Amino acid sequence: MDDAPEIGELVPPDRTLMGPGPSDVHPRVLRAMATPLVGYLDGFYVEMMNDATEALRYLFRTENEHTLAVSGTGSAAMETAFANLVEPGETVLVPSNGYFGERMGEIAARAGGDVVTVDAPWGEPLDPAAVERAFDEHSPTVFGFVHGETSTGVRQTDVPELTRIAHANDAYAIADTVASLGGVEFHTDEWEVDVVYSGSQKCLSAPPGASPITLNDRAMEKVRSREEPVRSWYLDLEGVWEYWGDDPSYHHTGPVSTTYALREALRMVVEEGLESTWERHERVAGALVAGVEAMGVGLNVAEEHWLPTLNPVRVPSAVDDGAVVDRLLAEHGIEIVSGLGALEGEVFRVGCMGHSARPAKALGFVSAFGSALSAAGADVDPEAGIAAAGRALDDDR
Ligand SMILES: *Cc1c(COP(=O)(O)O)cnc(C)c1O
Repeated sequence: MDDAPEIGELVPPDRTLMGPGPSDVHPRVLRAMATPLVGYLDGFYVEMMNDATEALRYLFRTENEHTLAVSGTGSAAMETAFANLVEPGETVLVPSNGYFGERMGEIAARAGGDVVTVDAPWGEPLDPAAVERAFDEHSPTVFGFVHGETSTGVRQTDVPELTRIAHANDAYAIADTVASLGGVEFHTDEWEVDVVYSGSQKCLSAPPGASPITLNDRAMEKVRSREEPVRSWYLDLEGVWEYWGDDPSYHHTGPVSTTYALREALRMVVEEGLESTWERHERVAGALVAGVEAMGVGLNVAEEHWLPTLNPVRVPSAVDDGAVVDRLLAEHGIEIVSGLGALEGEVFRVGCMGHSARPAKALGFVSAFGSALSAAGADVDPEAGIAAAGRALDDDR
């Protein structure tokens, strides 16, 4: 017994999660997670998966039959998309203008794809003309793009144009909406995106671990007619669908508690109304940005590509971004993060997603951020920021 470890009681600190995810989880979702388990083939569980599927179709704006939640985080959904769609030797086009576009390339390469990139600077979206040129040059069969790039805070607009280019070249379009679905407008069917995946812990206010994905019939046909089996047994959609589809049989154990949580989170999106959740994210993030700008700090993204769910706030000159991030957490319990890759030291990444996208959270952030910046020696006007954020919320009502 001498070496029995001493493990204290689990008491998480009180945080407001305003980084790139996870975001705050609604108490209703936490409660759903704490309810008793049932077996993964219990009629109750099967009904719950069906409810979740209906709600996911609403969330994705799709009628796709193959709509489900992958057992794992957003990266597992990303891997599901590429592992199933890409066969060894196929050419896969991915963006180079952010961290998650680059991750697509790593995953596609492990699936045996020959990865080529369409380039844009970090902080800018892909230009459809550049995508068109990349198609002419490389003839990819699969094209991935990121709708909301969390590393840069850029929203990829022109989605219908991107899918048009892909289809004109007989290719498949895969969209990453991990940080945007449920927070920012997205239309799977209307925009003709073949595969769309997301995550649960960003705009949906659920814990990580059950990640939405949808495939149209054309994409599923490609999966079914593969010459070589998917290299991942766990994420092979034909196997996974034996469980998630009609007449479920065992493939792997459904993550019961996280699926309960996702179902409750989706129920809340349906209650609020999808358009209303988009409006809320835009209104609350708009107030946050108005506050930051009024105190004298700008965003590192052009207005037409602003992604309300992830705001890249410029680090004022001579300010140590790490010290500000640390101070926000230590003094105010607010989590934001620093920039990555090409934007390291250039921006703070301030999330405004899901249950964190609420007026009180935005106001609290602007106030705490102003004081943390002042403490770090920045020449900012915190009072002006607080007033502007409050006004923006009032005006919008
Ligand atoms: C967070 C994120 C991912 C990865 O999701 P995990 O849940 O961390 O695995 C992928 N793409 C984007 C755009 C993200 O923001």
